[in-house]
Amino acid sequence: MKLGCIADDFTGATDLANNLVRSGMRVMQTFGVPTAPLSSDVDAVVVALKSRTISAQDAIAQSLDALKWLQAQGAEQIYFKYCSTFDSTPEGNIGPVTEALMDALNCKFTIATPAFPDNGRTVFKGYLFAGAVLLNESGMQNHPLTPMTDANLVRVMQAQTKRKVGLIDHTVLAKGTQAIADKIKQLEADGVGVAIVDATSNEDLKTLGPALKGMHLVTAGSGVAIGLPGNWGLQSSAQAAALPAPTGYQAIVSGSCSLATQAQVANYISTGLPSWQFKPLNWSAHDVPAQIKADVDAALAWAKPLLAQGPVLVYATTDADTLQQVQAQFGREQAGEWMESALAQVCLGLQAMGVKQWVIAGGETSGACVQALNITQMQIGPQIDPGVPWCFAPQHTAGHLTLKSGNFGTPDFFTKALKVLVETAA
Ligand code: ADP
Repeated sequence: MKLGCIADDFTGATDLANNLVRSGMRVMQTFGVPTAPLSSDVDAVVVALKSRTISAQDAIAQSLDALKWLQAQGAEQIYFKYCSTFDSTPEGNIGPVTEALMDALNCKFTIATPAFPDNGRTVFKGYLFAGAVLLNESGMQNHPLTPMTDANLVRVMQAQTKRKVGLIDHTVLAKGTQAIADKIKQLEADGVGVAIVDATSNEDLKTLGPALKGMHLVTAGSGVAIGLPGNWGLQSSAQAAALPAPTGYQAIVSGSCSLATQAQVANYISTGLPSWQFKPLNWSAHDVPAQIKADVDAALAWAKPLLAQGPVLVYATTDADTLQQVQAQFGREQAGEWMESALAQVCLGLQAMGVKQWVIAGGETSGACVQALNITQMQIGPQIDPGVPWCFAPQHTAGHLTLKSGNFGTPDFFTKALKVLVETAA
C-alpha cells in the first residue's frame, strides 16, 4: 500500500477515494478500522471513521487505531482527510488528530488545506472561500455542530494545536514546486509544525503534490489527493477504476428526501420502470415495527417476480410536506430510524433473492443498508457523477454498490448509474 488515508466521515471518505481513483490509484475504502489484513492488492486505502464531531479524545484514539492498521499494511504516506469546509470546533478535532498523528509518526512538519477548487473550495492568503464568499459568510457560521465563524485557517488551526501554524501562500505556489519545497524547509527552520497552503485551482494542487513527496503525514480535504498519485509514477487510467463485471439482479433503494433525490425518483418512475413506495402515513401508532415488517414483506413479494426483468426501485423518498406530517406523527428521529430499518430489511430480503447491483440513495440510509448487508470494505470504481463512484464489495455476496448522499447526482442518476456499470465493466 502506498497511501494510507484516515477520513473523519463516511461520505468524505468516498469523496477522497473517488479523487484518488481518478488520478490513477486503485483504492479500497473500509468502514471503520478493519480487524483483518486487506483482501485486495490496492495502492491506497481510505479508512472511514465517524470522528468529526465526537470528543477529541475519542477521535484521536480511533485515528491512531486506523494509523496502526495502515502502518501494518505497509502504508508509505498517511493522509488525514477532513471536510472541505474545515468542519471543526475550537477544540478540534482537526488540530488534535493532526498532532496525535504527527507524534505517532515522529513527523516534524505537515500541511493543512481543505482546498478543493472543483467543489468551489479555495484558499487565498490563508482564508477559506466556499464559492464566492468567505467561509464565515457561507452559512457554515450557523452549522449546528461545527459553526465556522472565522475563515482565517491559520487562526482556526492555531486555536486547535500547540504547534506553531504558518502559511504557504499563493505567491509561493505561483513559483512552482521547488519554491514550495524551499518554503517548507524555511518554515521548519522557523519552528512551524503545520502550514496552511493556499490553492485556488487544480493547477495549484498539482504543483503542490510533488512537494509533498516523502512527507510522512499530509492533512487536507479531498482536493490535495489529485496531486499525489504522480509521486508514485501513477497517472489517470481507466484501469484504476476497473471493477469485476456485474452479476446478479439490480435494485435501487432510496431513503433520501433531498430535493435532488426527489427528482431522481420522479425521473425513474417516469421511465415506466417498476417502483414500490413506503407510505408511513398509513401506519397507525400501535405496534409500528409489526406494520413495517408487513410492508417489508409486501415490498419483497412485489419485487420477487420483477427482478429477472430488470431493476426495481423501493423507496421512502417523499416531499417536504409529507415528511413533515410523518415526523409530526412519529417524531423526527423515530420516523427516520424506522424508515432506515425498513429499507435495511428490504436490502437483506433482496440480497437473499440474488440482488448484487445496488444503487442506494441517502447518507444515513446508506449507512443502515451497508451495515445490514455486512459490508466492511469496498473497492472504488468509475465515477457516475461528481463525488459518486461505483464500488465493489469483494468479501461479501453484496456485489456492486453506489452510495449517493443527499443532493448529489443528476435527475437521471438511477438509470445512468446502472448504465455506467455495464459500460465500464471489465
Ligand atoms: P440524505 O443524504 O438526503 O440526507 P439520509 O438517508 O441521510 O438522506 O436521510 C434521510 C432520512 O429521512 C433518513 O433517516 C430516512 O430514514 C428518513 N426518511 C426517508 N423517507 C422518510 C419518510 N417517508 N418519512 C419519514 N422519514 C423518512
